[in-house]
Amino acid sequence: MTIGLLKEPEGEHRVALLPESVKSLISLEVNVWVESQAGNHAFVSDTDFEKSGAKISQREEVLKADLILGINPPTSTELETLKAEQVLVCVFQPLSNKVLVERFLKLGITSFSMDNVPRTTRAQAMDILSSMATVAGYKAVLMAASHSPRFFPMFMTAAGSIIPSKVLVLGAGVAGLQAIATARRLGAVVEAFDVRAAAEEEVKSLGAKFIKVEGAKDEATAGGYAVEQSEEYKAKQQALIQEHAKKSNIIICTAQIPGRKAPLLITKETVAEMVPGSVIIDLASSSGGNCELTQDNQTINSNGVSIIGNSNLPSTMPLDASKMYGKNMVNFLKLIIGEFGALNLNWDDDIVFNTCVTHQGSIQSERVKSILF
Ligand code: NAD
Repeated sequence: MTIGLLKEPEGEHRVALLPESVKSLISLEVNVWVESQAGNHAFVSDTDFEKSGAKISQREEVLKADLILGINPPTSTELETLKAEQVLVCVFQPLSNKVLVERFLKLGITSFSMDNVPRTTRAQAMDILSSMATVAGYKAVLMAASHSPRFFPMFMTAAGSIIPSKVLVLGAGVAGLQAIATARRLGAVVEAFDVRAAAEEEVKSLGAKFIKVEGAKDEATAGGYAVEQSEEYKAKQQALIQEHAKKSNIIICTAQIPGRKAPLLITKETVAEMVPGSVIIDLASSSGGNCELTQDNQTINSNGVSIIGNSNLPSTMPLDASKMYGKNMVNFLKLIIGEFGALNLNWDDDIVFNTCVTHQGSIQSERVKSILF
């Protein structure tokens, strides 16, 4: 079998495999074709890929591989050239991209979306949502620190005392917990909030304070994900968060509900009451943002408060983000590559079945089927 690695479109600096991951694939007896200059932004040259055993190819050839790999899917025009027996493994957010899913159904191709990997213990090594959220949570804090006019840690110096920055983290999932850990390492005083009861212990174990709103709907049935909350709960939550937000120097927004608009947690009235010089980093910007004023891929200034909307911070750390993405990818591909490097789709394997969005004109993933169709 041949595996084709695509160069990512303009603006995306990661690449789906680094040479070390190419080597792991080649040991499974597959051929790997890498699009010329695919690793440029991740500081990996064509020669590095060649040394790992890959063949450097032009895009048209890569698109003819049995299995096509990437982070972003091929362009709309390129999709028309695909054959039904080809397999595509990338990230296309099927829950918010019904048009693309319908397109794949029509083409008859087998498509896997890596953001659809089940959040189970066995699938952890393939979970790109977790690895990329780790990068995003870390980078969000560094970005906030570099935009802030204040120190993060406390200082007692001959030039006077500096009080530590107050950081508020909204959403304590993978990105939020990494943001808490990074802000604590920099010496900030950190508070966090999440609707999931399980988050309280995790937040506290990192040395942050948990802001508690009583009466959250139980998320136990949603596979570890947050669920939509009642109006009464939302009102209580809104009031408490606004109170804490006004006293914060930095807010890191990470709250999301898969396939839905991000919950609105910071209103424009709250921003107006924040201390000038404060910074809001909104990682939920691509799904609407947690702050009412957030604009996706933009930095705005409102009343002296900087609001940065960026849902693709992993692209700003392309080397390690690609390393982690590639490792997740190889772990997943090992499930669908059988003896002598042949494709082996075992539908009895829950990870293979649930990560697969379309196959021979039908939807596989139960989650996609129940939410989209
Ligand atoms: P996510 O990116 O979907 O959401 C981020 C956080 O926002 C979540 O913690 C969610 O509870 C929170 N949130 C949603 N609505 C909110 C609101 N109105 N107010 C405040 N917070 C809100 O989530 P994620 O980080 O990808 O993962 C969520 C959880 O899933 C993890 O913390 C973990 O418990 C579980 N998980 C399990 C595995 C595994 O077992 N393999 C892997 C990854 C994650």
